[in-house]
Amino acid sequence: MASMSTWTTFQPILERIAEEIERTPGSGRPADYIPALAACDPRRFGMAVAEPDGTVYGVGDWREPFSVQSITKVFTLALDLSREGGALWEHVGREPSGNPFNSLVQLEYENGIPRNPFINAGALVVTDRLHTRTGDAAGELLAFLRAESGNPDLTYDEEVAASEAAHGDRNAALGHFMASYGNIDNPVPVLLEQYFRQCSVAASCADLALATGFLARHGVRADGTRLLSRSQAKQVNAVMLTCGTYDAAGEFAYRVGLPGKSGVGGGIIAVVPGHCTLCVWSPGLDERGNSVAGVAALDRFATLTGLSVF
Ligand code: GLU
Repeated sequence: MASMSTWTTFQPILERIAEEIERTPGSGRPADYIPALAACDPRRFGMAVAEPDGTVYGVGDWREPFSVQSITKVFTLALDLSREGGALWEHVGREPSGNPFNSLVQLEYENGIPRNPFINAGALVVTDRLHTRTGDAAGELLAFLRAESGNPDLTYDEEVAASEAAHGDRNAALGHFMASYGNIDNPVPVLLEQYFRQCSVAASCADLALATGFLARHGVRADGTRLLSRSQAKQVNAVMLTCGTYDAAGEFAYRVGLPGKSGVGGGIIAVVPGHCTLCVWSPGLDERGNSVAGVAALDRFATLTGLSVF
């Protein structure tokens, strides 16, 4: 294994990983719960690494926008935490759920308090609270992603947003169910509109590696202002490590050893605190909803560079 000190830039590592991935027969299937995602070619692959100073390296389809989906949950969590601080944790927990991302069963046992901010129920609570504080949760998210990535063209994919709404019965059920416990402030249809717009944001690996940079910089934004305290940045990274890859977070921690968050669009972001941030994209998903090539690429990155939190 070559250690990181062997390399002066991440570029050769990314190229080696891309070659290895290309040689591996494609597996996994794109998400099929909405037509807009099912149409993606599962063989697409891109990967980017951003350093804390904004230097970014990439390979393959790293500049191609894809559907960010649940990766947005990291950013809405950070944006809400920065406003309301620890009071958020009275409304959403921070333990792995062990259940699928859109499960309803646990919510009833646990009185409408979702296990963590990265399952859909928890993300709905976070978006609801951010919406109450800003009047436009999805707009706040988009402005943040544009500013951190330096890409003013980053935007919602209206087709995906409409498709999410048309197939949103389960998220609607989660919203109404939590509202019945008093854990949602806004009218559920308003919340759902915000959440579907949030999920529909399209961004590239380069955009997302850069936008995640504040978590490598211990809470500091690209312009040098502070979004989160050092302790809050640690909290977000910790929840990503334990809950960020659906009900496969244990396996992801075992293989990759980094805080990460995946989405059903096939993207995964990961953080090496103090060192760099990564985003990988390939739409073929495993049965848990994580990108097959994405997890494999991050696994190789951790092995080749020796970078992990462990
Ligand atoms: N829009 C998706 C949903 O709420 C997000 C799924 C995901 O990426 O986990 O069903």
